[in-house]
Amino acid sequence: NPALTQFGVQMSNLTGVRAIMKDIVETLRAHTGQQLINLSAGNPLILPEVEQLWRDCTAQLLASPEYGEVVCRYGPSQGYVPLIEAIVEDFNRRYKLNLTERNILISPGSQTLYFYAANSFGGYTTSGELKQIVLPLSPDYTGYGGVCLVPEALIAYKPALDIDAAAHKFKYRPDFSKVSITEKTGCVIFSRPCNPTGNVLSDDEVKKIAALAAPYDVPVFVDSAYAPPFPAMNFTEMTPIFGNNILHCMSLSKAGLPGERIGIAIGDERVIQVLEGFQTNACIHASRYGQAIAARAINSGALADISVQVIRPFYQNKFTVLENTLNEAMPNDLPWFLHRGEGAIFAWLWLQDLPVTDWELYQELKQVGVIVVPGSTFFPGLEEEWEHKHQCVRISLTGSDDEIATGMQRLAKVVQQVYQRA
Ligand code: PLP
Repeated sequence: NPALTQFGVQMSNLTGVRAIMKDIVETLRAHTGQQLINLSAGNPLILPEVEQLWRDCTAQLLASPEYGEVVCRYGPSQGYVPLIEAIVEDFNRRYKLNLTERNILISPGSQTLYFYAANSFGGYTTSGELKQIVLPLSPDYTGYGGVCLVPEALIAYKPALDIDAAAHKFKYRPDFSKVSITEKTGCVIFSRPCNPTGNVLSDDEVKKIAALAAPYDVPVFVDSAYAPPFPAMNFTEMTPIFGNNILHCMSLSKAGLPGERIGIAIGDERVIQVLEGFQTNACIHASRYGQAIAARAINSGALADISVQVIRPFYQNKFTVLENTLNEAMPNDLPWFLHRGEGAIFAWLWLQDLPVTDWELYQELKQVGVIVVPGSTFFPGLEEEWEHKHQCVRISLTGSDDEIATGMQRLAKVVQQVYQRA
């Protein structure tokens, strides 16, 4: 093999979920014939109304003189102008903002935004100082572990736990007695709603984090891949928060366009310009076809409408199926806790004092034909040992109602056996 640089080693490693995906793919391949319930996926389902929306926008684009301009041309790195205008117009109207086109960057998927951000603001400065990428509430999106060229820059903080023992429910909260944002901080990133937990940080918690970062001019990237106005996969009230040092970062991946790779950052034009420069160097710009159909879906209002009327209730109902099944099937005397389902496309189950590791539990669940994701992959940047990291699993809400119910019944049995054996 050719010799690799530090960055080469770092970037050729598979981190987090991607590392266990290999095991899942092999399991699925080996089990042809036997019915497996795969609740590991992060890929949203294809909902007919959503597919139709993108089909209609594509048909309109094909019939329009714009087509050649879109598909046969390079464009500005900042993004396709009609999409930028559509976002400015939509967000100014919807949230009473004063955005201009200078506040917007379109990227090829939102993951790239975090890559640009993590490496523009985190890592070593020209004077050799290490700037940290702070994840204020661990667990969080596993992809953050993969976007840092300088892994020692990533610092995550253990959460506080809000536990409702009688109801077998819990919720993570940022532990403000621990979270440290100082002149050593380069940027802050968190997802809201959160992948993997379905948590939604409160408006006050977001404002508090932004206020801690403001004195140091530290940008706060709010990963809004599941947030309103699209895909609006929040099951609890939440207000997107804009302004000052907050960058509201969106994705069209969960709104039916994962393959087109469209991410959107909204915020301070000084930060937007840094990210745009990074993007120009890295990849020139996002797919113009994807941007052109997105502009249509946003301008007509159809994307926001379908998000609220179709996408949100679809996944909220899946969570209810999962929650009801666990309430019925899980023994009341075991210390199991389901994270409050406030959004996104996952459920997060914490099994306190679990006698085996999350990885061993994952293996046992495979034996009964159920695939979930071991939780320990979702603590990027949290180096300290903490038993909780090995007591959780992520369950995807992308199965059918039947699969989710059957999967949770089997899980309840396995969990019971595991505790009894100990
Ligand atoms: N952020 C979160 C919280 C996600 O769950 C995902 C994808 O699963 C991403 C970012 C990346 O999405 P994109 O397809 O926009 O790169």
